[in-house]
Amino acid sequence: MENCLFCKIVAGEIPSTKVYEDDRILAFRDINPQAPTHILVVPKTHIADCNAITADNACVVAHIFTQIPKIAAAENLTGGYRVVSNCGADAGQTVQHLHFHILGGKALALEMA
Ligand code: AMP
Ligand code: ZN
Repeated sequence: MENCLFCKIVAGEIPSTKVYEDDRILAFRDINPQAPTHILVVPKTHIADCNAITADNACVVAHIFTQIPKIAAAENLTGGYRVVSNCGADAGQTVQHLHFHILGGKALALEMA
């Protein structure tokens, strides 16, 4: 997908601090961390947001969720962590490539809105 920031990060055209990679997904540190540990996990294929998840591409989302606990364990998030995906303007989505935030490293505030 042209002009997609996270597609460019996946392609290595824009640098990132990688924490996990395999053939289908990439995890890297958020450039503007909102918690002591703030990682983004993305599919390597372009999916715009949660609304664009279909029966045909949901497999990579399932794969992301099997890897998230392993990434969290590797980051020593033993006290727990939060997984967030912003979908659309009201949620504050700024990058139109599906991504899951992993936030942790402290007791997080409970406010969700
Ligand atoms: P969202 O607001 O849910 O769409 O999340 C987009 C996230 O991408 C934000 O938390 C940004 O800080 C993060 N971000 C933007 N550009 C970069 C970048 N070049 N490398 C790492 N994270 C980025
Ligand atoms: Zn993309």
